[in-house]
Amino acid sequence: MIVAIDGPAGAGKSTVARELARRLGYQLVDTGAMYRTVAFESLRADIDLKDEEAVAEIAENLKFEFRFVDGENITFCNGEALQDEIRTAEVSRASSIISAHPKVRQVLVRQQRRVGRERSSVLEGRDIGTVVFPDAEVKVFITASSRVRARRRVEQMEEQGEEADFEEVLSEMVARDKRDSEREIAPLVKAEDALEIDSSDRDVDDILDELQDAISEQQDG
Ligand code: C5P
Repeated sequence: MIVAIDGPAGAGKSTVARELARRLGYQLVDTGAMYRTVAFESLRADIDLKDEEAVAEIAENLKFEFRFVDGENITFCNGEALQDEIRTAEVSRASSIISAHPKVRQVLVRQQRRVGRERSSVLEGRDIGTVVFPDAEVKVFITASSRVRARRRVEQMEEQGEEADFEEVLSEMVARDKRDSEREIAPLVKAEDALEIDSSDRDVDDILDELQDAISEQQDG
């Protein structure tokens, strides 16, 4: 069983994907963490982010695994647990630049398919239902208004003790969505057969119940 969860930044995808995977006992593949790691490693190697070949070579050398440890989904890259270093504003911005390179996507998509086929999985990202697993049994597209998404991001940053300016976060988020939606390869779009969920005024449990019903229907059918 493959559950594909796509949507823009801050729509609540991660929370929904994590809780759903936990409820179902499925593996959770955080594909955003994969693009972020490639971005982080490219910045660390001081590579020009526009150099597609060089960035793709970095991607080739990364092997990802996903495991729940004490209830938290942890992404491992080459055996090491990834931490907050891939969640900075600089890495967010860089990840949406390197993710527009076809060769980088090719490398990561191949790995996402391999990992996803190993066992029942929830995959979250931008192109899971359209490109990575177009035959996924269940596809979900989660949205929320940009102001709600920016507010959530600010709250998250403040919880982590970071300073956050709402207008700045909002404009950075809108710019990232624009890059993700307008790129030529695998843009952020809703798959035709995806269930669309607007999370702006909804609680996570309510969304999870709706998704579990959709999954049960698939399993019964
Ligand atoms: O989901 P997250 O915000 O962690 O993703 C970081 C960036 O990685 C996105 O802005 C997007 O550019 C890229 N991404 C992608 N395709 C995916 C997942 C993430 O292009 N499946």
